[in-house]
Amino acid sequence: MLLTVHATAGALIGQQINNPLLAFILSFVSHFVLDLVPHGDQDWIDEYKGDQKSKVVKIIMIVAVDIVILLGLLVSRFYFIDSFATGLSIASGIIGGLLPDFLVGCHELSNRLFKKFYRFHFWIHDLIKVKPTAFQGVAFQVIITGILLLSFR
Ligand SMILES: [Zn+2]
Repeated sequence: MLLTVHATAGALIGQQINNPLLAFILSFVSHFVLDLVPHGDQDWIDEYKGDQKSKVVKIIMIVAVDIVILLGLLVSRFYFIDSFATGLSIASGIIGGLLPDFLVGCHELSNRLFKKFYRFHFWIHDLIKVKPTAFQGVAFQVIITGILLLSFR
């Protein structure tokens, strides 16, 4: 699932909870709950027919667009409306929401670190054997992000 969705869920949890440690833990758990729902993006990579180099370029493009959208939200008023205390919980929630994919990335790059965590992440990811199309996956993630953004106080 896109980083934007995980970060937005983490920010919302941080805003609602207003406790940095609890926000981090709940956002970390929310990552797996969101990844459990079939969301199509694994096929964006798996079913790509190009060579390895163009596959890597495609992954970088997807992550770059994802990060640009996420940065746009981070500097927008959506995430930071209340006091500094809430801001700390929101930041903590965003980090907790993104950490699982960061650890997965560390394993992908090292091929050693966080191996069990990596397996657990994709076990959750592939638990429900429904495969939406890429379009359905994007539409689903846009709708989820919209609902999360509308839920901010
Ligand atoms: Zn993930």
